[in-house]
Amino acid sequence: TKPSTFLVLGDKTSAGTLAIISLSRDNFLPLTLEKSTGAVDGYLEGATLNTRFGSYPHSTLLDVPWGSQVRASNVDTGSRGKKRRRDATDEDTLIASQDDDDDSTAANAPVKKAVTAPSGFIYVLRPTPELWTTSLPHRTQVVYTPDYSYILHRIRARPGTRIIEAGAGSGSFTHASVRAVYNGYPRDADDVKGKVFSFEFNESRYEKMQVEIGHHGLDDLVKLTHRDVYNDGFNVNGESPNATAVFLDLPAPWEALHHLSRRKLQKGGEEAEEDSNWVSPLDPKQSVHICTFSPCIEQVTRTVTELRTLGWVDVDMVEISNQKINISREKVGVNYPTEKGYNSSPADVLEAVTKLKSLAERNKDTQRVQALQTGAEGPDSEMDLDSTPNRENQPSNSNGAVDDMEKPWMQGRLVHRPESELKTHTSYLVFAILPCEWDEEAEAAAMAKWPCGN
Ligand code: SAM
Repeated sequence: TKPSTFLVLGDKTSAGTLAIISLSRDNFLPLTLEKSTGAVDGYLEGATLNTRFGSYPHSTLLDVPWGSQVRASNVDTGSRGKKRRRDATDEDTLIASQDDDDDSTAANAPVKKAVTAPSGFIYVLRPTPELWTTSLPHRTQVVYTPDYSYILHRIRARPGTRIIEAGAGSGSFTHASVRAVYNGYPRDADDVKGKVFSFEFNESRYEKMQVEIGHHGLDDLVKLTHRDVYNDGFNVNGESPNATAVFLDLPAPWEALHHLSRRKLQKGGEEAEEDSNWVSPLDPKQSVHICTFSPCIEQVTRTVTELRTLGWVDVDMVEISNQKINISREKVGVNYPTEKGYNSSPADVLEAVTKLKSLAERNKDTQRVQALQTGAEGPDSEMDLDSTPNRENQPSNSNGAVDDMEKPWMQGRLVHRPESELKTHTSYLVFAILPCEWDEEAEAAAMAKWPCGN
């Protein structure tokens, strides 16, 4: 089996694999890299990623080390680029035709104007569950990283764990849990058993997720089942997943809990009719840890009651209040020391102006400079290290202010601010444990292992 790029760190990007494209700090895009078809009928390039930060033929993103920064193509190969002929005379211009939407006439389209292609850059990142969570196509509310990292820790998900998850939704939790339980390739080895058993009753979500799981190379580790778990429980083809960890992100988790028992029970804990074919979906030899994820306290109350009724213990509830804190140097109006004492002129303004000038010179794309001036989000505003003027070449003011600002602590006060955007779906997490049943056989086995046993 080909190992998933989500799980096994390869060196370089390759065709047919998923990459996460970082457009700016909080702007990620999933992209399946395609092999370049080369020039076809006089046109350059095959698949191209077009962004407001420039165009990136996939050929420029292939066979590069994960994490590479890739500059935009000199020529915009975007919608207008479809019409660019291979014999274009000026590689730094793109030729826009009169009729942008008509491909059939593209090759012969009269040249209307030449536009300089924007020169941005992107990073090509290896997919991880965290990056997938921030870039995946949302079909439902999803569980975010601050929640799932805590949940996976509390339900003891570790390499080799068999975990039950419902509903699968958009697969955010699925990807995080599969990495937690993954314990190596090849998957047919006897000692390899970590697996996620995921259930989803919405047909279209189930189908989309099945495609994604296959595409991400995770079919061996995720068994996705189209199922209403309230009615039909958690066994797969009549067989037990033998789970020791359970995560329920369902509107009514209490409707499904009676299926997660060691004996056949009805909702509310009453014994169900004898059924010799019935098997528990839980590992009979180990305690089981569960987490349910519910936005309302009423859901929590009903879940807790059902958990207690069914014999779960150590029931508790947690709410994750995640807050991102942004730390930066505050330069505006800062006093910084110079040889002649403290300088109160706003050196940050000088620096900002110099930066803008150098940007404008290097990149004639005035729109992007305006975006920078207005603080609009974009690679240049946050990450373009190359566009930062070289301090050594920078003019210093009469007090030698720029030289003094070489030292980080002179570049302003260190300030921290909580970021307003909270990327978590606020929910209450209910945790509980179902101990394994203890009988004479279990006692004998335990005593046999016990150093002081008979
Ligand atoms: N945890 C998911 C994630 O991180 O992407 C999101 C789950 S979403 C909030 C809840 C999902 O539960 C929905 O996709 C819904 O279709 C599914 N669902 C609701 N009732 C269900 C049931 N009885 N059986 C199986 N799935 C169910």
